[in-house]
Amino acid sequence: MEFLGEIERGWEYVCTHYKPGQIEIAGITLAQIIGFVIPAVVYLLIDLLFPEFSAKHKIQSTRRQPTTAQIWHCIKISMFNQIWVVMLHAMAIYFTGLEHSLLIMDPRLPSLKILAMDFLFGLVAREVSFYYVHRALHHPSIYVYIHNMHHKYTAPISFAAEYAHPIEHIFANILPIVLPLTLKGTHFLSLMAFTIFELWEAAADHSGYDFFKLPPTSIHDLHHEKFRVNYSTLGIMDWIHGTHVVGWDRPKRKEAEQKSN
Ligand SMILES: [Zn+2]
Ligand SMILES: [Zn+2]
Repeated sequence: MEFLGEIERGWEYVCTHYKPGQIEIAGITLAQIIGFVIPAVVYLLIDLLFPEFSAKHKIQSTRRQPTTAQIWHCIKISMFNQIWVVMLHAMAIYFTGLEHSLLIMDPRLPSLKILAMDFLFGLVAREVSFYYVHRALHHPSIYVYIHNMHHKYTAPISFAAEYAHPIEHIFANILPIVLPLTLKGTHFLSLMAFTIFELWEAAADHSGYDFFKLPPTSIHDLHHEKFRVNYSTLGIMDWIHGTHVVGWDRPKRKEAEQKSN
């Protein structure tokens, strides 16, 4: 409880000493760093520093993993996407006035019950909206122009989560996470906590590793390998629409491929 008190005092200090626009810019930048950049670097370091552990826990075989040049290219585009979105957001706030923010900067912390309800609402809203946006991106008249880029990495790494066409980055990666909770009038800290969680989830889903996530990372990893299955993040919408595929044969296939290396 003392820890919560410290956070509350710190947040109150921030709210009374900085303008809402400044807090929003700092918040979105920190959320990207904490939720995405740091986890993506950690996953990449596992690839580089522990190759045996990595080969054992990667869902797909070693021969399918991207080359060093492909990894660097992925990091560059992914970081570029991060930077231009934050810059655009900061410019919009700067020109509309730092005194204003569409987000709720209440100096009181949201209660744990409200935080839990916000997470539940955000998870369901993201699952539904991402599924339909993602399926639309797979429509043959759109796919080659936009979503084809994200599917470059058939055996993804974490940075590939944000390796996407700018239109996809806005409509599939950002809006399904932030728009529902913003429209709901969620507390700024709830929104930041949810954004950090979702960014980590995206990094984990693209990490290529089989550990430390529920639902398992293999769901979206299989989407990258097979393209036309597992469009959602939790698997619920795929189950409803009959697009859910488990990929029971993958461990055996990986083993056979590793042996033939
Ligand atoms: Zn993906
Ligand atoms: Zn796709």
